[in-house]
Amino acid sequence: MSTFNADIVVIGAGIVGAACAWRLAQRGLKVIVVEQGAPAHGSSSRGAGGVRAQFNTATNILLSRESIAEYADMPGSGYQPAGYLMLVPEAGWAAAQEALALQRSLGIPSEQLTFQDAQRFVAFDPSGLGGCSHCPIDGYVDPPTLTRAFVSQAQEAGAQFLLHTNVDRIEQRGGLWEIGTPAGTVSAPQLLNASGAWAGQVGALAGLDLPVRPARRMVFATLALSPAPQLPFVFDLESGVWIRSKGDRVLLGRADANDTGWREDLDWNWLVPTLQLAVRRFPWLESVGFDRQASWFGYYEVTPDHQPLLGRMPGVDGWLNACGFSGHGVMQAAATARVMAQEACGEAPFIDIDPLRYDRFQRGTAVMDMQL
Ligand SMILES: Cc1cc2nc3c(=O)[nH]c(=O)nc-3n(C[C@H](O)[C@H](O)[C@H](O)COP(=O)(O)OP(=O)(O)OC[C@H]3O[C@@H](n4cnc5c(N)ncnc54)[C@H](O)[C@@H]3O)c2cc1C
Repeated sequence: MSTFNADIVVIGAGIVGAACAWRLAQRGLKVIVVEQGAPAHGSSSRGAGGVRAQFNTATNILLSRESIAEYADMPGSGYQPAGYLMLVPEAGWAAAQEALALQRSLGIPSEQLTFQDAQRFVAFDPSGLGGCSHCPIDGYVDPPTLTRAFVSQAQEAGAQFLLHTNVDRIEQRGGLWEIGTPAGTVSAPQLLNASGAWAGQVGALAGLDLPVRPARRMVFATLALSPAPQLPFVFDLESGVWIRSKGDRVLLGRADANDTGWREDLDWNWLVPTLQLAVRRFPWLESVGFDRQASWFGYYEVTPDHQPLLGRMPGVDGWLNACGFSGHGVMQAAATARVMAQEACGEAPFIDIDPLRYDRFQRGTAVMDMQL
């Protein structure tokens, strides 16, 4: 059995772990990443690829703003500024306008649109809506490609990846974390938990109670359409239905709040009520067929307030969390990596992550952002 020594061990080679490994290795730290599968084995190959800066809290807006700026400059990221269009119900419109003002104060070019202007992007029935917001720097990226790019950059900076290697034991001895795997033990003074929907289970290996749970999410793809649709990412916040275009198809989804845990496979029955709601808002979907083979499912990594868990674990020396993104890990990974590298090196993070630290649950200061 081998023993590997590092300055920091990262558990998980999804987009978050890979990006963190790169930023940590750039700092000159000896980084070992342990991943049970291949890179992007988990949620990072199952996402819808949306990136948006339209959030309600400054921390989330900044994490997205900085990440989108990096993706825009990364060759091969697949970044397309197709925009996000939010269709906001009457009851939520006052809060949405406050969020728009906050976004604009932080340099985000989001704007309020009339229904007529919004309908230039997509045909929809505005019944029950209070207004629309749109942000032109929001859009799409290609999450698996981005993840592999971060892995390559991390390797070039000196990080080592132990792939197809499951972490099955975590103990702290003499100021070092010992991470047990079938390939041997990795020993390091710091550990970064970037294990996505598994983060609660990984924490439990060390006796920690991390409030991150898996929740299945499904993406339904239409048959190929002609002409190919050109849609932004559109969220109907009244029904929870979202649509976007990808190639010559439309993708469609809606969260089921009761769909929690490791529930396997695509539940085709969920398409029926989802489509009923979708057709009310987007009547043109009524005549469109769906393709089971092109549809898929994956897991969100959900926390109680649907926001990430970032930073050092209070009272647990050398344990850092970068998990619980609750469906926003792709759009926030790049900036998270810079923040976590600063945190690991004892520097103040360039974005204030205090609202996302573990102790928010102990202090009762957790606030909900938009649950999308
Ligand atoms: C249907 C769907 C749509 C989504 N749409 C979007 C979107 O539009 N925009 C967006 O930003 N996000 C979206 N997301 C969420 C996004 O995919 C995740 O937030 C993001 O991929 C999380 O990245 P991660 O690196 O934290 O987790 P993961 O990619 O899940 O990586 C965690 C890794 O840890 C590994 N691991 C776990 N346990 C162990 C262990 N014991 N030992 C070794 N390795 C382990 C796993 O194999 C995995 O590779 C979506 C997710 C789904 C499912």
